This record gives sequence, C-alpha cells and structure tokens, in this order.
Amino acid sequence: MKNFCVQKFELGPISTNAFLIWEEGGNEAVLIDAPPLCESEITTFLQEHDLILKEIWLTHGHWDHIAGVSELSDADAKVIGHRADKHLFENPQLMSGFSLPGVSLLPVEINQWVEDGEHFDLWGRDVEVLHCPGHCPGNVAFYFSQEKICFVGDVIFSGSVGRTDLPGGSFEELERSIQEKIYTLEQDTELAVGHGPNTSVGKEKISNPYVPG
Ligand SMILES: [Zn+2]
Repeated sequence: MKNFCVQKFELGPISTNAFLIWEEGGNEAVLIDAPPLCESEITTFLQEHDLILKEIWLTHGHWDHIAGVSELSDADAKVIGHRADKHLFENPQLMSGFSLPGVSLLPVEINQWVEDGEHFDLWGRDVEVLHCPGHCPGNVAFYFSQEKICFVGDVIFSGSVGRTDLPGGSFEELERSIQEKIYTLEQDTELAVGHGPNTSVGKEKISNPYVPG
C-alpha cells in the first residue's frame, strides 16, 4: 500500500489546526477542518503537490474550523459533518460572539452527514467515525485504525480538553466521550488535535489532568 501522507497547518486568527491527507503518488486530497483565512496556504500546497481537493471533513461546527469552507468553494469538494451541529453549519453567526472581527461567517452546506460507528473507505483505507459530544453536540473524530491516527477536533488536546462552556457544551458528556471513544483506541494511536501539538492516546491516558484514564 502507498504511503499515507499528512500535512498539518495552523491557520486563522486563533491558530486552528487543519490536516491535509493524501496518498503518495495519488492526486486526490482530503482536508480535515477548514479554518478561516486558509485559502491561500491550502491551495498553494495543493498546486505544489499536484493534488485536487476531493473532500472536506469537518470535525465540528465551530467557526474557527469551518469558516474557510466558503473560501475553498471553487474546489467543489464534498463536505462532511455530523447532524448534531447542523444549526452551527447553517447559522455560523450563532457563534459570532466568540469569533473575531474580520472573519466572515457564511453558512456551510454539508453534502454528507456521518453517524457514530459508521465506516467508510478512503483509497482502500478504513475510516471509522466516532461521535464525541461534549465540546459541542456534533464533534466527530475520524479514526484510521490501520494508520494509527485519529483526527479528533476539539475533544482532547495535549494535556488539556476542549472547553465545555460554549453553547451545547457539557463536561460530563466530554468526559464520557474521551473515556469511551478515545481512551479505548490503541495506546500508540496518534491524536491529531484541533489546537496545539499532536499527542497520543497512551500519553493522555496517563497524564491528562482533566480526564484521567
Ligand atoms: Zn471548537
């Protein structure tokens, strides 16, 4: 099987991570999360690597993860998200009080809704959707078991967890999501997180101060 490639970008006014994934030698790419002001960096990278943006997978509906979708609309990529954040995708202005001036918040059309436990195929690789509410109602993680990497959005961070004081947040739910969906993955699974450095399941299980393993 060809090499699985991941490029991490830190984009937008509050340094949100986005991840571009593709296969070595392939010409299709998937973008996981689309922070505001992502267009030039993402399109430049795609052009330099002869890649076409095929899909955008959104981990959740917060403005700092979705506002870049409208900037990439020329790409005509399929957009994926979870229905529990439908209100945020359709009315991103709901979060404008938490946003920053200069960021345009346009509605995002989701072309495919994903469910907890759903599996789909990406270039012959298995991807499992893990619904992890708590930070917001519709946060999903995209788990590549073979590649041992899980793109988690704002569920958990290195030494921290997603904030739960925003509308629709719940610490009890977040704790359950982390313990049942994240800590049960293979220990050496890399966690590609929405802000800051990546971490691993094993590291957070033994050292995360907010949700002990
Ligand atoms: Zn968030």
